[in-house]
Amino acid sequence: MNTEEQTIHDFDISLICEYFSSLDRQGPGSEEATLKALGFIDNLHENSKVVDLGCGTGGQTIVLAQNTPCNFTAIDLFPAFIDILNGNAQKLNLHDRIKGVVGSMDHLDFQPNELDLIWCEGAIYNIGFEKGLNYWNKFLKKGGYVAVTDATWFTEERPKEIFDFWNEAYPEIDTIPNKIAQMQKAGYVVVATFILSEVCWTDNFFKPAVAAQKAFLEKYKDNASAGQFIQYEKRHAALYEKYKDYYGYVFYIGKKLVG
Ligand code: SAH
Repeated sequence: MNTEEQTIHDFDISLICEYFSSLDRQGPGSEEATLKALGFIDNLHENSKVVDLGCGTGGQTIVLAQNTPCNFTAIDLFPAFIDILNGNAQKLNLHDRIKGVVGSMDHLDFQPNELDLIWCEGAIYNIGFEKGLNYWNKFLKKGGYVAVTDATWFTEERPKEIFDFWNEAYPEIDTIPNKIAQMQKAGYVVVATFILSEVCWTDNFFKPAVAAQKAFLEKYKDNASAGQFIQYEKRHAALYEKYKDYYGYVFYIGKKLVG
């Protein structure tokens, strides 16, 4: 199989984890985008329970905790990411309000109507946008919120090369109107959507990755799989540069129906 045909699903998960542990973010995003999304959410107070799913090393969890008085449970499948998050929370004296735990976003251990807010940046694709929004709904209080980012087409038509890439990586990528309809159908009032700026991809995600890729390749210079994975990441960045008019990440903020 050549690199062009490989997908992210083909690589050794522990290598991927090690690579992403060396980055502050594991997906496109920014503090500004997190705070903008937070601005659409009302009624958060010191007893509010917030869950951050697929938190990674917790860049956005820390921003949320620094800008609200709420209590956070941050969940990720990978223990190495959770260890980094808990260490950072401790350093910033936020550990009394942030609890990082290992778990899966499709097996949540909360009560129905328990949560005020479910956050999920760059991670719902792991179980799919519709499945995630439908499954999480019951854990939210009536009037509680969900805020997620997801890969989205900006246009009705797109070149085959980029269609093929995303169709392999995440076939549920769809247009903004279709995703809004899915969110509404899953039991939410769609409060807001906005497109993440290019900076979220370039300066915040692809640029810091260059040094991380160099270090990773030096460490694993004899490992073919590591080399192929970095080739895949580079291709991801090059395709973004070429086709960024056609797709990006969109924040979707929904409020669970009260009635
Ligand atoms: N929210 C972070 C990380 C996004 S990357 C950021 O924006 O920087 C996607 C994250 O989802 C990774 O940390 C990955 O480990 C996590 N993940 C993958 N499958 C998961 C699952 N089933 N449950 C919880 N987390 C999962």
